[in-house]
Formats: sequence, C-alpha cells, structure tokens
Amino acid sequence: MLKQRAVYNEEHEMFRDAVRGFIKAEIAPHFARWEETGIVDRSYWAAGGAAGLLCPQIPEEYGGAGGSFKHNAVVVEEIGYAGYAGPMTDFSVHSDVCAGYILHAGSEAQKRKWLPRMVSGETVCAIAMTEPGTGSDLQGVKTRAVRDGDEYCITGAKTFISNGQHCDLVIVVARTSDVPGAKGISLILLETDRPGFRRGRKLHKLGHLSSDTSEMFFDEVRVPVTNLMGAEGTGFATLMTELPQERLIIGIQSMGAAQRAFDITCDYVRGRKAFGQPIADFQNTRYKLADLKADLLVGWAFVDQCLERHVRGELSALDASTAKLWCTEMHGRVVDQCLQFHGGYGFMREYEICRLYADARVQRIYGGTSEIMRELISRSL
Ligand SMILES: Cc1cc2nc3c(=O)[nH]c(=O)nc-3n(C[C@H](O)[C@H](O)[C@H](O)COP(=O)(O)OP(=O)(O)OC[C@H]3O[C@@H](n4cnc5c(N)ncnc54)[C@H](O)[C@@H]3O)c2cc1C
Repeated sequence: MLKQRAVYNEEHEMFRDAVRGFIKAEIAPHFARWEETGIVDRSYWAAGGAAGLLCPQIPEEYGGAGGSFKHNAVVVEEIGYAGYAGPMTDFSVHSDVCAGYILHAGSEAQKRKWLPRMVSGETVCAIAMTEPGTGSDLQGVKTRAVRDGDEYCITGAKTFISNGQHCDLVIVVARTSDVPGAKGISLILLETDRPGFRRGRKLHKLGHLSSDTSEMFFDEVRVPVTNLMGAEGTGFATLMTELPQERLIIGIQSMGAAQRAFDITCDYVRGRKAFGQPIADFQNTRYKLADLKADLLVGWAFVDQCLERHVRGELSALDASTAKLWCTEMHGRVVDQCLQFHGGYGFMREYEICRLYADARVQRIYGGTSEIMRELISRSL
C-alpha cells in the first residue's frame, strides 16, 4: 500500500528505497537496545543526516536537498511502517516540525546558521510549547522572556518535550509581554549550552520508549534579541500557521503504523488455528479485517490529497485537523482490533502488535488532542 500511489513519482520511490535501506542498517540492529535505554544513540542523528533523511524539504541554499514535504512524508511512512515509532517521532519533530518554523519564520541569519546543521544532524532541534500547567490551551503559557538591553532573560519550565535530552537548540514558546492571550506570545531560539538551561527527567512513558521525551527548565537563561523569531508578539500567529503541517504529518505517521498493524495481523490470522481452522477463516475475522482495510484505503486517499494540497501551499487548517483527527482515531481502532485477533499473545511484549498498540495511544494526544481537533473542525460548521 505504501508504494505506487499517485501522490509520489519515481524519484520519491527511489528515495523510499533508500529510506528502507537506512532503516535496515541504522535502526533495526539497535532498536531493542534503544527501547531499553529510553533514548537513541546520538550517532543515529549523524547517520540520518548523512543518508539525507533529515529535513529533506530544506532548499539547497540552506544546505538541504531541495526536496518537498513529500520526501518528509516518505521518511515518516517508512519508519512508522517498520514499527519504530520512537526513532520516527525523533526525526519527525526535528524535520517536519522544527525545521518548518525556522524556514518560514526565522530570520535570514537564523536560517543560514541553523538549517545546514539540522540537515546534517550536527544540531538536534526541539520545540517547547507544553508546560506542566498548560498544554491544549497554549495561550496560557507562563514561561517568560523579559527584554533586558540586547538580551532576553528566559525563566520557566516545559514538559513532554520530544528530543529533550539530545537537543542542542530549542524553539521556546514564551510570554514577552503582559498583554494577555495570544498577543503576548513570542518564539525564541535557545541554545542548550547557555547557562541556566537545565534538562529534567527523561520521562517514563507507555509507548515510544526509545524517544527522549523530557522536562526542561530555564533559570534566567540569557539569549541575544537576535534569537527572536519574527516580531515580538507574533509567536501565536506563527504557531497557527505551522501547526497544520505538524497535524498532517501526525496523520501520515498514523497511516504508516496502522498499515503495519494490519499487515502483520493478516499474516498472524492465517497461521493461527482455532476449532480446527485458521482464525482468518472465521467470518468475524474476515469482515472485521475488511472494515479495517476499507478504513486504511480511505485514510490513505485523504492524507495523499492533503499532502498534495500542502506542497501546493493550499492545505487549510480544517483539512489538517480533519486528517489528524480521523487518521489517529482510525489508528487506535486498527491496533485495538488487531491486538484482539492476536488473543493473549497480543498482550505479550514479545509480540510486535503489543508495542504497536502502546505506541499508537499518543497519536490522539500530541500535536493537539482529538478534542481540540473536534473543537477546531466544529468552528467551520
Ligand atoms: C510523547 C509525547 C511527546 C510530546 N512532545 C511534545 C513536544 O515535543 N513539544 C511540546 O510542546 N509538547 C509535546 N507534547 C505535549 C502534547 O502536545 C500535550 O500533551 C497535548 O497538547 C495535550 O496537552 P496536556 O497534556 O496539557 O493536556 P490538557 O490540555 O490538560 O488536556 C487534558 C484533557 O482535557 C481535554 N481538553 C482540553 N481542552 C479542552 C477543550 N477546550 N474542550 C474539550 N476538551 C478539552 C483534552 O483533550 C484532554 O483530553 C508531547 C506529549 C507526549 C505525550
């Protein structure tokens, strides 16, 4: 299902083959260890950069390959389909989320400094929106960046930050004025070697075990005012512009992972017997799998359409929210039913479906919960 879709051309398919080669060589041999240690090796980033998998959409003038967001989608589909959700999210936050902010909202100097290093993997980037006290309601962030001459002094705490241990650069969502709500919010680049920056715990999670999701603390961290992205007070507007890309890619992540769960389950039910016949032969199995297959086909058609619109610059916030809501909810239904077909083995960690089930749960939470997607969609009614 992943190959030969109209949204991709021959060049994308060659890139897909290269991504598959990378997964085999650079993820598969290490993945079990990464899941144990709760973090990928730093060398994974350099390998991803060398193979051209990081930020493939970045133009050549900023050190990129000059691809399109379709290349980003291929990377996510393939690592997701291979069942490696942690390493997939690590790259996706860096390439599909953070790089977009710098490319679209960064100054020329910020682009020239950071994008080539993000493409090579020398710099790992994170984005810090969520705080212990606020997630869905982004206007409620309390982290403050107070202007003092040519510097901002940043104080606050963030949590659930992907790439939290490896990151060298953080896009911080902070309040730069007392103006309440959206207008007081700015985006500021923060290098993690600055005094006052501290990484907190690597958090223990249900899934994505190899992903270094962490807390972080800013204790009067001083950064030059040139680290501000865009104008002061425009941070919230930038978030609203960039979130659709993040939501689309989360929908695409869910498609790859759900397809994987479906495919391995089709194999399982053919091999497992009960009452003298393969599980696959029960009408219940066939009909339920037929429903899941229909869901998957519809999901691919919609995300492909959204991807096409996105590279043309025509993806609406409504399309993106709909893709995220529908694909991640569908992903949840697929892994649940697929685990059920595995019976007790599905509950065992040594069976892949068990991990796919756990990894799927966060898709409905990060990047905006399903409830927030419904809220956004309902505003168009
Ligand atoms: C593995 C992982 C990785 C993450 N990575 C990052 C990252 O890199 N950077 C980052 O900034 N954040 C990250 N997050 C945070 C994530 O984006 C937030 O958890 C998410 O936005 C929800 O915020 P919250 O956890 O504060 O939940 P809350 O906002 O407290 O929501 C709790 C519940 O209330 C519901 N709710 C809230 N508001 C409404 C409403 N208006 N109407 C109806 N229901 C509502 C929500 O849907 C949810 O069910 C990550 C989270 C996880 C788990």
